[in-house]
Amino acid sequence: MFRKVHIRLSLLCAGITVFILLAMSFGYLYISEQGLRSNHFISFQNDMNTVLSNLEQQTEITYEWLTRIEDGGKYQIRILDNGVPLHFSLSDSEEERLLFERAWEICTEDYPLAEAAESYGVRHVEFSFSSNQNRRNDYYACAALSDRHGAELQILILSSLAPLEQQIQNQRILFLLLDVLAVAALSLFSWYFTKRLLMPLEESRIRQEQFVASASHELRTPLAAILSCASASEHALGEDRRQFLNAIQSEGKRMSRLIDDMLLLAKADQQNWNIRKKETETDTLLLDVYEAYEPLAREKSIRLSIQLPETALPPCLCDPERIRQILGILIHNAVSYTPSGGQIRLILSGDGHHTRFAVTDSGIGIPDAEKKRIFERFYRADQSRSEKGHFGLGLSIAAQILKAHGGRLTVEDTPGGGSTFTLIL
Ligand code: ADP
Repeated sequence: MFRKVHIRLSLLCAGITVFILLAMSFGYLYISEQGLRSNHFISFQNDMNTVLSNLEQQTEITYEWLTRIEDGGKYQIRILDNGVPLHFSLSDSEEERLLFERAWEICTEDYPLAEAAESYGVRHVEFSFSSNQNRRNDYYACAALSDRHGAELQILILSSLAPLEQQIQNQRILFLLLDVLAVAALSLFSWYFTKRLLMPLEESRIRQEQFVASASHELRTPLAAILSCASASEHALGEDRRQFLNAIQSEGKRMSRLIDDMLLLAKADQQNWNIRKKETETDTLLLDVYEAYEPLAREKSIRLSIQLPETALPPCLCDPERIRQILGILIHNAVSYTPSGGQIRLILSGDGHHTRFAVTDSGIGIPDAEKKRIFERFYRADQSRSEKGHFGLGLSIAAQILKAHGGRLTVEDTPGGGSTFTLIL
């Protein structure tokens, strides 16, 4: 499902960005081409003004001057003196003659020189035309009429638009290449971007699935015991029946505890904690916890001791009930994973910025590879050594509560063996 959403989302993201990019680049290309064409025409008009003013200043038209005007093939020029062509160009071909005739024809039809503007005593007009009726305009032309000492000079100067078209073509190819690169980059970007965007959702879905699978597995065990005890108790009498009912009751309690734990975690996931912070005397809090759990440790022949700082710590802003709950989880674990004859120490320390509660045991310890995983839901370091009352939820609940407090829970080895859990506020 996520793959489908990922593909759709990246297509949508890439589609929109690519559409905007293409629209902008085509718009820019169009405006730039228009600008290029109009600049080119203006530059042609300026050149023609210079040429014509130059011509007017010449007393006679020399071959050198005409060659200079032709500017290495940039312009083609034809001058008729009283209708007689001045032959100056060696490259006068039939094709060129037809081209000039067509330009002159278009000038006479569409841009009559009689109505044209006059500068330096020359009437002239600049226009673009197509050398071939089926093609778009591919030449600029300047037609001029000059009176020189009683003789009428007809001047026609042509400039091919091929170099301009070539320049526009190159620009289009460059844009196309850049667009292709940009589309590829944007597609890659949207693929990775949406992947990153969906990653937390995907992770949360996987966690949810694992949680549901583990929860149903954990619930199935006591439920199976309850069902089998219930059916066995139907035919049992006296002491046997009482035993079955006791088993049903204890398994029921176990289920109820598990459900409470799961509800607590579900609340944490929805960030629906009811945390009531207040200024708390941490030494009093730890003493209360010590007194509450001392009998449990004694039952298992474990020595529970407490170590408080010599000078009282300043009050800590926290929810004392929640901190008691975490310490309860840690001490309960310490008692469970410490063999008889071992010892557990509760240590309070602080440095003005942080308050630390440590629960140190001399128990079986936790291998380094497991230290991170024990905070995962339903994770038990060694399934075979786990007691029946342990679901693997205690530390994840403790870590969640602390997270909501803005605190931290760390684990390390106790020197000499065992584990030390430290709760930092
Ligand atoms: P559980 O309910 O199984 O104790 P927890 O989340 O509290 O679940 O702990 C996860 C696992 O971490 C336990 O199954 C156990 O393997 C390991 N663990 C926790 N506390 C201790 C400890 N004090 N000593 C050794 N192992 C521990």
